[in-house]
Amino acid sequence: MKCSARGCLEDAVWALKWRNPSIHPDARVKIWCACDTHRTTLAEFLTMRSFPLEIVPVEALDSDA
Ligand SMILES: [Zn+2]
Repeated sequence: MKCSARGCLEDAVWALKWRNPSIHPDARVKIWCACDTHRTTLAEFLTMRSFPLEIVPVEALDSDA
C-alpha cells in the first residue's frame, strides 16, 4: 500500500482510521495510509477538524479486515 499523501510514492507504514461524524454513520470508517513522514501531517489534518482518529500499523489493518 502506498502513502495517501498527495504526490508521495512511499510505502505506507501506518493506517489512519478516521471518520467525519457529521457525514459518516458510526460504523463507517475511512482509511488513509501514511509513510513515516506523512503520518504526522495527515494526523494533524484530521485532529484539527476534531475527527475521531485511530492510528495503527498497516499490518494490524490487514488482520482487522
Ligand atoms: Zn508519505
